Order: sequence, then C-alpha cells, then structure tokens
Amino acid sequence: MPSEKILIIEDEKAIGDLLIYNLQKEGYTAVRHALTGESGLEEVRKFEPDLIFLDLMLPEMSGLDVCRKLKSRPETSRIPIIMLTARSEESDMIVGLELGADDYVTKPFGAKLLIARMRAVLRRCSMPPENFGEDLSDGILCHEPLWMNLFTRQMKLAGEPVTLTFNEFNILHLLASRPGRVFTRSQLVLETRGDDYPVTERAIDVQILGLRRKLGEYATLIETIRGVGYRFVEEWEKR
Ligand code: CA
Repeated sequence: MPSEKILIIEDEKAIGDLLIYNLQKEGYTAVRHALTGESGLEEVRKFEPDLIFLDLMLPEMSGLDVCRKLKSRPETSRIPIIMLTARSEESDMIVGLELGADDYVTKPFGAKLLIARMRAVLRRCSMPPENFGEDLSDGILCHEPLWMNLFTRQMKLAGEPVTLTFNEFNILHLLASRPGRVFTRSQLVLETRGDDYPVTERAIDVQILGLRRKLGEYATLIETIRGVGYRFVEEWEKR
C-alpha cells in the first residue's frame, strides 16, 4: 500500500473527485482536495503532502502564484508539483516548469497516464542525490547506455567515446542528470555559452539536432516535448 500523501488543488469538484477515485483505486488513501489556491496553501502546511496536483486555472490566486509561493519557501520548495493544464494554457505551463514544477498533464487526462506520471515523479524525487551526476564526487554520470565524466568532459555511448562540443556536453549533461524531467528551451539556454551573441531558443533546437546526430542509433534518448522543450528518457529502449 503506498503511503504517500497527495494533495489536489483544483477548483472543479468533478475533476478532483475523479482524481481521488483513481488514486484510491491504486491504494493512495491519504488524498486531500482543496478548491482554491489559498486553501491549497493552507493544506500544504497542515497536511504536508508528498506530491501536489496543481490546476493552473484557479479563481483568485492562480496556479502559477501557488507554484511560485511553494517553490520560494524552503519548507515547501522540495514538494513535487504536477500541473494540470488545458491546451490553451501552454505558455503558463512553460512558466510553471521554469518555476520548478516537476511535470504536467494536459486535460482531459486519462487516469492511467496520470498515475504513471505521478509514480515517475515520486520515484525521481525519492532518489538519493548521489544518483544525479552533478552531485557525484567522482564526476561520473552513468545512465545506460550513456556515460559522462564531468571533470574530463568525456562522453561514451555503449562504451564508445563520442566527441561533443562544449554546449552539447552541457545540454546533454543537464538533461541526463534528471531523466524524465522536461526542460524548457529557456532553461537549456542558461546552460549554453554564447560567445559574442546571446543564445536563442532556436539555437537550442540546432544544438539538439547536432546532439542527436552524434547519438546516432541512440538519438531517441532525447525526447522532444512539442511546444515545450526536451527531456532525457527515463528508461531507454532501442526502437
Ligand atoms: Ca480550473
């Protein structure tokens, strides 16, 4: 029986009920539902959830404001957030990811997808930090078939060395340090170095294109999230 506490912040009661029903069916019994941003923040304090489903379109305090508040407070900044969004709210969702939300699900959503995303986020967040390359004292990030050494800036694919440019290395390292997590183009821009001119979001697409070419048969390690950005696959299967 899973013991994680889940909080839903969503003003549509029917969607909240549906979520609760599906979570309980999967054995998540500690589930609470808040109908406004304000009461959601209050529940975060009292209930101390392990994960939050956050609707972006809320009356009065918006979902983005809730996200901003949670991520700016040290006592709540580590609670994973999955945003619930409508297609038309794509730009808000990108802002949410940049504020530190962990993932998003577009409405109308299927229960299976939602539970799978939730489990993936919970799994990622419960991993000890040693699993992330950037925290490794020996600078090695290993995520089969990828191997990267931060100090020597070497990269190997299934044991074979591959030469990357400075920016390609940084982008791949950022993506691979958090498999499954979506990074927006502007988050990736921050990782790249513009020599004389600012790096544009379009330039990121060009970098990814170059990276995929070098990844060859492993190009599908990097997934495109349309209109949003990119992510490193959580589990790689040869396609
Ligand atoms: Ca809503």
